[in-house]
This record gives sequence, C-alpha cells and structure tokens, in this order.
Amino acid sequence: ENGTFKKLDVVVVGGGLAGSLEALFLAKRGHRVRLYEYREDIRNTPQARGRSINLALSIRGRTALREVGLEDHMINNHGIPMKGRNIHRIDGSTYIIPYDSRTKQCIYSVGRNYLNGLLLQESEKYENVERFFNHKLIASNLREGFLSFQKTDTKEIVEVNADLIIGADGAFSAVRKEIMKQPLFDYNQKYIEHGYLELCIPPDSNGGFQMPPNYLHIWPRGEFMMIALPTRTGSWTVTLFMPFTHFKSLDNEDKLLKFFEKYFPDSIPLIGKQKLIADYFAGSASPLIAIKCRPYNVEDKALIIGDAAHAVVPFYGQGMNAGFEDCTILNQLFQKPHDDLAKILKEFSDTRWEDTFAISDLAMYNYIEMRDLVTRPSYLLRKAIDDVIFWLVPKVWIPLYNSVTFSTIPYTQCIKNRQWQDKVLNRSLLFLGAVTSAAGAFYVYKKIVGLS
Ligand code: FAD
Repeated sequence: ENGTFKKLDVVVVGGGLAGSLEALFLAKRGHRVRLYEYREDIRNTPQARGRSINLALSIRGRTALREVGLEDHMINNHGIPMKGRNIHRIDGSTYIIPYDSRTKQCIYSVGRNYLNGLLLQESEKYENVERFFNHKLIASNLREGFLSFQKTDTKEIVEVNADLIIGADGAFSAVRKEIMKQPLFDYNQKYIEHGYLELCIPPDSNGGFQMPPNYLHIWPRGEFMMIALPTRTGSWTVTLFMPFTHFKSLDNEDKLLKFFEKYFPDSIPLIGKQKLIADYFAGSASPLIAIKCRPYNVEDKALIIGDAAHAVVPFYGQGMNAGFEDCTILNQLFQKPHDDLAKILKEFSDTRWEDTFAISDLAMYNYIEMRDLVTRPSYLLRKAIDDVIFWLVPKVWIPLYNSVTFSTIPYTQCIKNRQWQDKVLNRSLLFLGAVTSAAGAFYVYKKIVGLS
C-alpha cells in the first residue's frame, strides 16, 4: 500500500469528521498516527454536539468512505436516503423536486455524532493509531514539527514532535492561525448576515415519521427558510436559517408563534407549540462563516484540510463532503511513485484551492436557490429543460446540482459546465427567437404582397 513512501510520524490535530477520516487513510498507508482532539471522545457523549445534528452525505463523501471500507455501512445501515426536495408552501400544500429523475440517485441524511464515532471506532483496528481526547492545541512551531497541547481536565502541558502535522481542527483552526504567520498567505473570511437555529420535529406516537421521510423538506420563504432532515429515530432535525435581525425581533413567545403561524403554519402541529417555544428560546442563533485561504501547506511539515482549509456555508450540503474529498485526493497523491513529501503537499495545495473556492461560491448561490428560486416558475422551467437534456445526453449535459452532488467532477469544472450550458440555452433561445421573428416577418410580407 505504502509504495515507495517512507513511514511518517504524523500528528493529526482535530478528531472531527475530516481529522478522524484522514487518520484512517494515513493508518492504512502504514504511517504512525497520533490524533489529538480538543473535546472528549464523542463516542462517550450521548447528546448531540457540534454544529449540526444531521448532515447530507453525497458522492464525494461516499467515495472517501468507500476507500476506508465504511461506505456500505453508512449507506445501508445508517443513512436515510433523500431523493429530492419536498417543498412546503405557506398553505401547507407540498410539491416534490426530485434530485435526479434519470438515475434516481439520493443524498443521505446521516448523524454527525454517529459518523464521527464510527470513524474513531474504525481507527481502533489499527495499532499504528493513537487517540488523545481533551487535548487542546495551544502553541506550535510548524517548521520544527513541534506542537504543544494542554489537557482540558488536568491543565497539564503535553509537547510532541511530528514529521508531518495535519491540521483538521475546523473553521477556527489553531494550525491555520500558525500558518497565517507565513509570508504570502492569503486569507479571506466572511460571516453572512444570516444565522441558524436548530429545532426538532419529534416522531409520531408510534415512533414513526410525521412527514414523508425520504426527502429533504424545505419551507422556502424568500429571504429566509426552514429545512428538515430525517433521523433514524423517526424525528427530524429542523434548521431555521434567517437574518440575525429576524432572530432578534422574535424575542417573546407571542411574536414567535405569530411568526410561525404566518410563515410556517403546517410545522406548528408537527413540532408542537410548547416544544417550539422551549427549543427556540433554549438556544440562540449560530453564525455561518465562509473561509477562503491558501496555501494549505508549510513545506513538507504541515497541511490543513477540511473546514480548517475551506469552511463553506452549509447550503450545498458539501462542507463535510469536500473535507472528505480532501482525504481522497491526498491519498491519491501519496500513491505517486516518489518520496518527496514537500511536492505532495504543494501539489495538494496548488490544485485544491480553486475547487474549494468554487464550492464556497456555489454554496453562497445555493442559499438563494433554496430559500427563494425553488418557488419560481423560471427555476422550475430551467430544471425541467435541464432534466430533459440530461435524459437525452447524460454524458454531455449534467445539470449543476447533479454534477456537484452525484459526480466527482472538480467543483470548478461543475461551474464551467453550467456556464457552457447557459450559453447553449441562451443561443438556442436567440436562435428560436430569430426563427420566429423571421417567420413572422415573412408572413406579414406575404400578406402585404398578396394584398398589393
Ligand atoms: P469540524 O467538524 O469542525 O472538526 C474539527 C475538530 O477539531 C473538532 O472536533 C474540534 O473540537 C477540534 N479542534 C478545534 N480546535 C482544536 C484545537 N485547538 N486543538 C485540538 N482540537 C481542536 N456538510 C455536508 O457535507 N453536508 C451537510 O449537510 C452539512 N450541513 C451542515 C449544516 C450546518 C448548520 C453547518 C454549520 C455545517 C454543515 N456542514 C455540512 C459542514 C460540516 O459540518 C463541516 O464541513 C464539517 O464538520 C467539517 O469537518 P472538519 O473535521 O473539517 O471540522
């Protein structure tokens, strides 16, 4: 497996989704891996923590899980297939927009804790992986391969050295903060004006789903929206996305209920009035951040992956998937028949950023599609045209959503394909317009000539 590559002593900072998956990839290649995680072991903490309870897993994430032998388990034993968007109108009626009417591909609702726990559990199978929880990275010298952690319980300081440091410590990465001190490091962060708050639709009295389970449910309301993903217990994780100003204005029970009665009336009996009030006021809206930066590596010593390298807003359901794709790409680079780690890390950094910038832009765009465009006839017409052409020439014409979600075509290429499709459709429309006008002119001319 390891090819010609020498065995490395690797420290992975962050045992979240990307870090625990990367640890597996490295372990499979025979490297020594030490995984340091700030929080306690997620397998011992029953309540959901982290930034969202459920996530949509699609092909890029699945491809990475397949490489470490966990795809089948996630898809067949845990994930709940979602085959399209189930749109809720204000009057409570619904309609369905399938994701892929041609090959019926689905995205899968998976539990964050479950997946994270499974990845950590899998790493127990490898003797060359050690896990250290309750360790917070507090200082580092990346060029020296030096890291200093503080134990969150005893406050003891633990110092370690590594051949290679993988920073998978999320959007507020401490490893990235260290890389930022390097000259020529580009960094851009954006908080959007909207935040999110999680609510819950409980199971019905028989423990079943209160809504059709195999869809991602959306209540698009123009400037804001609510979505719901099914969980394995029959409940739904509901996420309300809207401007912080809206959250702030709903500061008492009466205002909250009036707001829900006006915009999401069909959800009130599903959530339950008292539960809605309790859950809404139990938490506060969380911010959403997008981070673009580069390069991702420091020579042959350190590399950031996942949200640490490219946090995106969640509207394309691609954050985790893109982080998992990082692991696949890195693994492919490690398979190259040479022994130059600096080259590998540089190649990852040089080739990956354009695609992560692209998915960041796509995710910003998709918020508008989900909360607003899906209700518009022009969107539905375009989707119908895309679907028909996709049906006729599936290799040539893959609609944007399908290429992002159901293919591993690089994100930049997905955008280029869409731009090309837009051009073709615009030209066809122009051509049709010209033909219709010419036919009309000819008809009028014939009439005039006929009259004279
Ligand atoms: P994280 O999951 O943030 O993990 C980082 C880990 O590093 C954490 O465990 C943290 O404790 C640890 N850490 C942090 N600092 C330190 C330190 N100093 N020392 C040691 N350890 C440290 N993505 C999808 O693909 N599909 C979806 O449907 C989807 N939905 C989302 C919905 C919402 C509301 C949000 C906010 C995000 C969503 N995402 C989704 C994105 C997804 O959650 C992230 O992309 C993913 O969690 C990134 O994984 P990560 O391992 O890079 O970072």
